[in-house]
Amino acid sequence: MNTDLISLGWNETFQLHFEAIKQPNLIPARLTRENRGQYIIHSGDKERVARLSGTVRKKMQSNGLQPIVGDWLLVEPNPVSPEYDIRHILPRTSLFERQVAGKASDFQSVAANFDYLFLLSGLDGDFNINRIQRYLSLAWNCNAQPVLILNKMDLVGDLQPLLAEAREVARDIPIKAISAIDPSSLNCLAEFFGEGKTIALLGSSGVGKSSLINALLGEERLATQAVRDEDSRGRHTTTWRELVKTPNGTLLIDLPGMREMQLTDESKGISITFSDIEKLAKTCRFRNCQHTGEPGCAIEKAIDNGILDIDRYEQFLKLSFENAQVRKRRAAKKQPKNLTQQQRLDKEEYFKEIHIQLRKNAKDQRKFFND
Ligand code: GDP
Ligand code: ZN
Repeated sequence: MNTDLISLGWNETFQLHFEAIKQPNLIPARLTRENRGQYIIHSGDKERVARLSGTVRKKMQSNGLQPIVGDWLLVEPNPVSPEYDIRHILPRTSLFERQVAGKASDFQSVAANFDYLFLLSGLDGDFNINRIQRYLSLAWNCNAQPVLILNKMDLVGDLQPLLAEAREVARDIPIKAISAIDPSSLNCLAEFFGEGKTIALLGSSGVGKSSLINALLGEERLATQAVRDEDSRGRHTTTWRELVKTPNGTLLIDLPGMREMQLTDESKGISITFSDIEKLAKTCRFRNCQHTGEPGCAIEKAIDNGILDIDRYEQFLKLSFENAQVRKRRAAKKQPKNLTQQQRLDKEEYFKEIHIQLRKNAKDQRKFFND
């Protein structure tokens, strides 16, 4: 295998897919950036510009495909221009998708072929266990190894309680506490770095993603919040989606902030993040138990016994509900921009009811024991 390609993330899997296509005249190249329909690709030796002919685009679209950052493409020189023509997208080993509000094309692929997904969260006042849970759910559908990165470690006095809380939801996913503004704190990430390894980074605005990327690149490539505030018209303020290489050979892809994203179908992720709850639910006496007061309900028993945290259970219900809505819309192949008024009312009603019921049960139980 070509070592230049390997340093871009090429591996045996891609090599096998390439050989299976049996068009040795085509050149493999990785998509590093898209610029208004112009694709910037790297084939190991140098950067080139590639384009998609109308016919190939149509053929890809009929398979729900379009080239995205991180993709391995097969290209060939265009006979009349210095550009390259894209012929194939090799099967992806991992994929990050987001749902686009109000767009007919429900799901947009964002980035492909990354080994690790760094989920960035703040340890400062922004620490939010529900958001972390949501990130973890997103991560499981990507087919990459998630790593929970807790940033702004320098701003907390006692790290341990927060780490313990995160550990509870992250299970066996690696958790790393760092301070993006202190390079020496980044040594704990070394195990994820290496020539040709690709890392995608996800985090909501202000969490320190730009600071971390700059620290890893060893240069101020992205404007950080402080700079963005001073200079709000600023340079790099718009979304940046590009595959870049750090001095140690690791490739980084910046993913859009969480606020821009909605949930995609996360049933697999939810199942894994909340596997304990799903397991419990299977032991309810009735198979169709709604966990709202039925006799022999294992969920309620676990809440009463303090084995299952009531907030965690409500978070599970909330994500499951949102996910069911997404699936419904996906199935109907059409997607209203927002929930309709009626759906919104239904949802509020639904949660209010569950919330009241659960709290009431817990209260009754306490009263029972205290009396
Ligand atoms: P982004 O929106 O996720 O790209 O976040 P930025 O990298 O722009 O960071 C937001 C703000 O948090 C900036 O003022 C950074 O200087 C600050 N910041 C980032 N990382 C850390 C950190 O580890 N500790 C502290 N104290 N501040 C940080
Ligand atoms: Zn039940």
